[in-house]
Amino acid sequence: MNGKLTVVGLGPGAPELVTPAVRKALEEATDLVGYFTYLDRVPPGPAGQRRHGSDNRVEVDRARHALALAEAGHTVVVVSGGDPGVFAMAAAVFEAIEEGEPAWRALDIRIEPGVTAMLAAAASVGAPLGGDFCAISLSDNLKAWSTIEQRLEAAARGDFVIALYNPASRARPEQLGRALGFLRGLKAADTVVLFVKAAGTADLQVRIESLGKADPAGVDMRTLVLIGSSRTRLIPRDGATPWVYTPRSEREASA
Ligand code: SAH
Repeated sequence: MNGKLTVVGLGPGAPELVTPAVRKALEEATDLVGYFTYLDRVPPGPAGQRRHGSDNRVEVDRARHALALAEAGHTVVVVSGGDPGVFAMAAAVFEAIEEGEPAWRALDIRIEPGVTAMLAAAASVGAPLGGDFCAISLSDNLKAWSTIEQRLEAAARGDFVIALYNPASRARPEQLGRALGFLRGLKAADTVVLFVKAAGTADLQVRIESLGKADPAGVDMRTLVLIGSSRTRLIPRDGATPWVYTPRSEREASA
């Protein structure tokens, strides 16, 4: 068996943020597998390279399909947005391996990291992830809402900066409002909240608000929400968007 399967992260959107290792894997692939929207970002490959696009919802089926292609001797690349290990296809591939054909465990499997949305979003506003932080997906397709609330509560009590992935979709428009309402009971009203849309692309849009007034309207599947810690603050600038950062030190005068 000499098939190979590489799971790559395409980064947040801009071609400059695709790593050279990911580019190389894409160029060497005989078969590309992924959600249509992500496959559309991949430039045309060598003649004969095949593309297997699918809908966003069927991640483990897509992973099984990719593994079957690799088992048949193909050089397969599965594409994810951002980083493939962050709420994306890498875990789906291992889930399929764990439950699937014993032969899949002998395949040459590699994961190529990418720039995850949280890092691109943070970089676009300053350094809001300068202290301790965590990431929570608000999608309740794969977990109960009570689990999400438990984790939001733990993150708020720990005073982590919280990156919220999957804040809203057409199928789940109300969850971000619920999450913000829940956090209002646990954190100060002047906590910095950032809505960063299309981070790492030319369409970048940033809204800086406070938790007390944060308005979830307009947030979509391309938005990352960052909830500050008690230390996250703004540096105002004349005629420009303020910088947002979280100091690394918990003492007032940072060293
Ligand atoms: N694997 C991806 C995340 C997949 S979950 C990664 O590492 O980035 C999808 C969620 O990621 C979206 O709903 C949104 O919250 C976030 N996201 C992805 N790309 C983004 C971008 N360019 N700007 C802001 N948020 C983004």
